[in-house]
Amino acid sequence: MKEVLIFGHKNPDTDSITSSLVMENLEKKLGNKNVKAVRLGNVNKETQYVLNYLGIEAPELISSVDDNQEVILVDHNEASQSADNINNAKVLKVIDHHAINFATSTPLYYRAEPVGCTATVLYKMYKENDVEIDKKIASLMLSAIASDTLLLKSPTTTEEDKKVVKKLEEISGLDISVYGLDMLKSGTDISDYTPEQVINIDCKLFEKGNKKFRIAQVNTADLDSIFKNQAYYEKAINDDIKKENLDLYVFAATDIINSNSKIISLGNDAPVVEKAFGVSVDNNTAMLENVVSRKKQILPNILNNLE
Ligand code: MG
Ligand code: MG
Ligand code: MG
Repeated sequence: MKEVLIFGHKNPDTDSITSSLVMENLEKKLGNKNVKAVRLGNVNKETQYVLNYLGIEAPELISSVDDNQEVILVDHNEASQSADNINNAKVLKVIDHHAINFATSTPLYYRAEPVGCTATVLYKMYKENDVEIDKKIASLMLSAIASDTLLLKSPTTTEEDKKVVKKLEEISGLDISVYGLDMLKSGTDISDYTPEQVINIDCKLFEKGNKKFRIAQVNTADLDSIFKNQAYYEKAINDDIKKENLDLYVFAATDIINSNSKIISLGNDAPVVEKAFGVSVDNNTAMLENVVSRKKQILPNILNNLE
């Protein structure tokens, strides 16, 4: 019998990789043995740090799913961010913490909560089902929350995330402020990446009406190291705009130390960021003070102002 595949979004981040592994564990503990975590893209350096630390292999890489393949989605729900051919697959469950842009013709288990991380939802599911959380699983979940909430500093952070982190610190023996910072820092090393690779580490495609746009984000501890190569980034971004017929491309370099983002905005709708964030764009760039979250700050402001 074919396995049920569990995966997060394309250009997977730490939450997408770890939550697929955690969900596989939970399903198996609940007696659903025929499940398998997979991934839709390269493991980034931050996530590789987590997997190395815990001695866990990355899930197998896939890019598309067969017709009628049974799947469980974690950390995303939009088809544009999912596996190729997802519209012909059978989605059994969705466990997520993003805005919902999902259509289905069959009943399913859909669980979305407005919390900082998929792992926070999964933690609650373990508790509800009385399933024990071992040290490795706790460490995976703690890593995901540290990543998605930037050590509980992002405005996406909720009281629930904070409570869950306390419990996960107890089980894992890890201190989020020490382990989490090392993990985030390892993710900021882009020294051996080309600008084209950097913009694709964490890039999501969105649609509004007939507009198509991408928002890419990279964490950094040194904005200058990125912006000294601005011309190369612009070239990579403009190539994607052409190739995919995008109306807008926003690349955000997020300073994890000072909790700001400096953006490059390109495409016909590039000026939308001025209205969206109340800033003036200079040389295609703008500094967004106190902006660190794509989900809660960048995306909604663009959606509200894109016409
Ligand atoms: Mg994610
Ligand atoms: Mg997430
Ligand atoms: Mg993210």
